[in-house]
Amino acid sequence: MQNVETGGLVLFSRNYREQDKLVKIFTESFGKRMFFVKNANKSKFSSSLQNFTQLELVAAINDEGLSFISDISDATSYQFINSDIFAQSYASYIISLADVAIPDNHYDAALYGFLMKSLELIDNKIDMEIVTNIFELQIMSRFGAQLDFDQCVCCHRQDLPMDFSKKYNGCLCRNHFDEDMKREHIDPNVIFLCHSFMAMNLETLPTINISDELKAKIRCFIDLLYDHYIGVHLKAKKFIDGLSDWADIMK
Ligand SMILES: [Zn+2]
Repeated sequence: MQNVETGGLVLFSRNYREQDKLVKIFTESFGKRMFFVKNANKSKFSSSLQNFTQLELVAAINDEGLSFISDISDATSYQFINSDIFAQSYASYIISLADVAIPDNHYDAALYGFLMKSLELIDNKIDMEIVTNIFELQIMSRFGAQLDFDQCVCCHRQDLPMDFSKKYNGCLCRNHFDEDMKREHIDPNVIFLCHSFMAMNLETLPTINISDELKAKIRCFIDLLYDHYIGVHLKAKKFIDGLSDWADIMK
């Protein structure tokens, strides 16, 4: 195949045989592709192929088998993400989520743009927990989970406090709480915020101030949704779950 230009983000690389590397790159124009880099350590590209580096590359993209890099015209790494263990953990997690959300070789420029924007916000020290929550909620549809936190599934009212029901795969307003005796008893503020996050445009993200207590409740609720509807278990997420202990120690 002929050489083509595209933006890309290095997802990970691994050694292959003695000298070579396989590098997985999420490209803007061709989805996630595995690239073969011969003599990787001696290659002029070696410093550009670190995890989470943004690239402008020229490459031969093959639909069957491996692809090959011809040139890299620009490589940028994230300063804050690479220097802060918390930022790095959250970035790893959303990158892993984007990786498992779509099959390889599948074109999804919208997801690519969404991921790049989310990483940019984390790198600019915008609240990484909130950015991650927004990412998690909005990417759920890629896994086939279309949830609506906007209205009661029974009466479609939007103005009453709501709870979440797995039985109905949606929300129940206060008047219909008794439709599901096993409803989740979620703080209505959590449902409201998740609804806002679902609709939020990262390009115009407002300043969001949320208490630690409410953030913890949002974290629990999204974990519940992911356990029930998504079912992926990522190493990077386990690491984040352990981070709160670290945060307490460092305080
Ligand atoms: Zn209702």
